[in-house]
Amino acid sequence: MRTLLAIFAHPDDESFGPGGTLAKYAYNGVAVHYVCGTRGEAGTVDPERLNGYPDVGALRTAELMCAARVLRLAGVHFLGYRDSGMAGTESNSLPESLHAAPLDEVAGRIIEHIERLRPDVIITHDPFGGYGHPDHIKLHRATLRAYELRYGVEWTLEADGRWVSARQNAPTAPRLYFATLPKTLLKWAVRILPLFGQNPRAFGRNGDIDLVQIASWDVPITTRIDTRRYVAIKQQAADCHASQQSFGRRSRIQRFLFRRNQGTEYFCRALPSYRRGEPLETGLFGD
Ligand SMILES: [Zn+2]
Repeated sequence: MRTLLAIFAHPDDESFGPGGTLAKYAYNGVAVHYVCGTRGEAGTVDPERLNGYPDVGALRTAELMCAARVLRLAGVHFLGYRDSGMAGTESNSLPESLHAAPLDEVAGRIIEHIERLRPDVIITHDPFGGYGHPDHIKLHRATLRAYELRYGVEWTLEADGRWVSARQNAPTAPRLYFATLPKTLLKWAVRILPLFGQNPRAFGRNGDIDLVQIASWDVPITTRIDTRRYVAIKQQAADCHASQQSFGRRSRIQRFLFRRNQGTEYFCRALPSYRRGEPLETGLFGD
């Protein structure tokens, strides 16, 4: 049986991110595991949602378990850190936060899961953490570090933003992908949002997402997965994270952008290194 391991920072990154891809493989016989860095303790939650839950972490863990059932994940595992919140917030500096944790310690915990689950493929955050969340960036770096420590992979960053491995002969190392976003859509959104009275520099539920900056972060796309048959499942998994979405209060343009981004999911392959001129992949397992 083939195994796919997703390593992301928060409960909801699996569903709001490459949920269609996770579902596609899980529904087709691949054991899909999720290693989640934190329990999303720093998420903003309406107080009435907490009914029956001792704290935000417990609520968001329950939401993740709901999403895992919908996506048919084979297992959910926690790295045991605390959600750091967005850059510059107080929770960044809490000693138990993912942001404050030593890189090699985080890499070590990731390696424990790799050795137990023996994945063929690993997916994690891209170098910019998607939209710049410090926990996303930390897990991206910790995953690269885990490959150095466990497989002796030596990474170098190419001028076009691709991570390549100087040592291609790490045959036992799982294939490594970064989940990313097509920036063409974002660049278009940055132009169109002001026409709808929205500020692209203060986007999202908490107004702390700068789409102008994010659109400038180019991550080369090497792999495009057709997830059209799994859009409804991804939506159902995203609905599990009810505390983290406020679609009722979102504008039509925001909902349009969310839907527009469904049906295809994008990845940047880091291992085996992507060679210039290689055609786009349509799957993660190299076949
Ligand atoms: Zn996240």
